Amino acid sequence: METRITALSKVKRIALVAHDNMKPQLLKWAHSNRQVLAQHKLCGTGTTGYQIEAALKLEVEEFMSGPLGGDQQLGAKIAEGYIDLLIFFWDPLQQLPHDPDVKALLRLAALWNIPVACNAASADFLITSPLVNEAYERETPDYKAYIENRTSGLLKEVG
Ligand code: PGA
Repeated sequence: METRITALSKVKRIALVAHDNMKPQLLKWAHSNRQVLAQHKLCGTGTTGYQIEAALKLEVEEFMSGPLGGDQQLGAKIAEGYIDLLIFFWDPLQQLPHDPDVKALLRLAALWNIPVACNAASADFLITSPLVNEAYERETPDYKAYIENRTSGLLKEVG
């Protein structure tokens, strides 16, 4: 796939999500890293976002609750280039009714070259990277080239 460069500013938009059994761990982690998080724009699924906003007194843009469509909203926002980092403490020990949405969110994060942390240790490594507070050039799929490649053959056949 052809790629292009997407320029990320120093201030990142960080999405925060935790499944119910993992919410205490994410809240603890977010509390420990409040100072860094406060320098960025935060968003998250409904319940996680609400809890972080209440506990840390930081503004969090809340999408819908995960099982009601929030994971899909975050996935769409990743495809639109709205989200720069994903901190997603998903539950490795429990099946959930919205597992297909979780898989879809992780797939889009991988496709769009988004840094993802799945637990406290990976989130520690991610948030302490100097790149978190610097401008960064992220390689992403080139959507225009993708559409042109997919349509050019067909247009030749028709025209
Ligand atoms: P929640 O959703 O933050 O609304 O609990 C998270 C999820 O289950 O994906």
